[in-house]
Amino acid sequence: MPAHEHTSFREAEVPPTDPFTVERSEDGRWYTVTGPCPTCRATSVFRVAYGVLGPTKGRTRRKPPPLTGEVVVFCQCGYPHPDKPAESPDAGCGAFWVVPVPPGTGGPTP
Ligand SMILES: [Zn+2]
Ligand SMILES: [Zn+2]
Repeated sequence: MPAHEHTSFREAEVPPTDPFTVERSEDGRWYTVTGPCPTCRATSVFRVAYGVLGPTKGRTRRKPPPLTGEVVVFCQCGYPHPDKPAESPDAGCGAFWVVPVPPGTGGPTP
């Protein structure tokens, strides 16, 4: 089990403390962003659909644009953090953070 901090639930943007990896799935339809939650240290695995980010201008069915820009990742560690509001849909500590996607990551294979 990875280390996990039982921090009080707090919905807030926090700066990432460690580098995150951004990988493209084999079928090219998903990106997976992986890294530790800056607040509670749980490993976060977040998936985003290919092509949902970045410029949409000039996008075609055959050739979606490479993922560019940023992915907003929410903590979904699944631990019961104290003080979590019952109405909160989050499954984590409430932290969210922005992971920059390096240019060229997983773009269409040449
Ligand atoms: Zn947590
Ligand atoms: Zn967390």
